Amino acid sequence: MEDKRLFDLIDQEKKRQSEGIELIASENYASDEVMAAAGSILTNKYAEGLPGKRYYGGCSVVDEIEDLCRERLKQLFDASWVNVQPHSGAQANAAVMLAILNPGDKILGFDLAHGGHLTHGSPVNYSGKIYKPFFYGVNKDDGYIDYKSLEETARKENPKLIICGASSYSRDWDYKFIREVADSIGALVLADIAHPSGLISRGLLNDPLDYCHIITSTTHKTLRGPRGGIIMMRNDFENPFGIKTPKGTTRLMSSLLDSGVFPGTQGGPLEHIIGAKAVAFQEALSDKYLTYVVQVKKNANIMAKEFMMRGYDIISGGTDNHLMLIDLRNKNITGKEAEENLGKADITINKNMVPFDSESPFVTSGMRIGTAAITTRGMLEDDMIKIVGFIDRVINDEKEIDQVRKEINAWASKFPLHK
Ligand SMILES: *Cc1c(COP(=O)(O)O)cnc(C)c1O
Repeated sequence: MEDKRLFDLIDQEKKRQSEGIELIASENYASDEVMAAAGSILTNKYAEGLPGKRYYGGCSVVDEIEDLCRERLKQLFDASWVNVQPHSGAQANAAVMLAILNPGDKILGFDLAHGGHLTHGSPVNYSGKIYKPFFYGVNKDDGYIDYKSLEETARKENPKLIICGASSYSRDWDYKFIREVADSIGALVLADIAHPSGLISRGLLNDPLDYCHIITSTTHKTLRGPRGGIIMMRNDFENPFGIKTPKGTTRLMSSLLDSGVFPGTQGGPLEHIIGAKAVAFQEALSDKYLTYVVQVKKNANIMAKEFMMRGYDIISGGTDNHLMLIDLRNKNITGKEAEENLGKADITINKNMVPFDSESPFVTSGMRIGTAAITTRGMLEDDMIKIVGFIDRVINDEKEIDQVRKEINAWASKFPLHK
């Protein structure tokens, strides 16, 4: 290796990933095949445009690759139209909003401070700067989405777009209700399923494609592919906000969304990543992946129960998916301290705001934990109970950190990465 410095650093990161316990809910371990495609010579190719309609020559092979990727994704979610080019989840959302909204249009999203995502209207993000954001949150008493306030705000403000989906919400969504609200005010619904998309793809959660006009997702969270984004629809339709042609028609949403990605918000697609997405979607269609996502959900459920048995306060009292949000205020430790102490014991979690948090986003009162990555390593129910035990020791007593780290390093080596 010429660049020893860089490849030594990659080796260090490999060691970190294999010796510790990875509980960041948005992370996973992609397969060797996914990584082989992502690290392939496809990175050399420019292919602006779509298969069959490119602005560059030499695209016959990448056309086949992108078509294969699109067909597999359609099959996985029973979608009729997809775009696999967004570079990330945030880029997918940007492309959708650019395609259907004008600057200054109103949007209604799930509050970031209650578990939403930056791209759903946060003032520090393009979505909150270019569009006019309104928010709904969770109920203070039970931690579930406050559908009543969603409906009230929708009727009062008349947003053009209602966004559902979250980064740290452990419950399923009532897509049917949200669609009814949207229909009553003539709005569109975007479901951003970045987190639970893997579970949704195999029928373990409600299907947003039944009710939501447009779906976006990442490909690297529960879907276990390369870092990236996707956009999908089950049924194409005419843009309700568009200018009518003399024939009385408007542009189809599929064509608007394609141009929202390119040329709207991106240049050349990452064909190496699209190749890796194709591998991941094929994996996600397998029986092995179904067994995996079923176990992800089981593991999260057992883990949440074990935390609650040890006196931890899980927001909404449990989980329907792969993650949980824990309010640490009764443990007299902030999210920041918990993240730091657990990190020293080689347990990686992230601090997270809890709904109605009194701490700043940098400190926070909570932590978010997910089971997607550890389940990929082959960990089962008994292992979840063990992990909660490790976490509890560190949270209760800093002096345990060194001993816990030693035990974890020895134990994690029994679950090799990339077999
Ligand atoms: C992770 C996430 C995103 C952003 O994905 P990136 O690939 O990091 O840009 C968007 N929306 C939600 C709900 C997410 O959880």
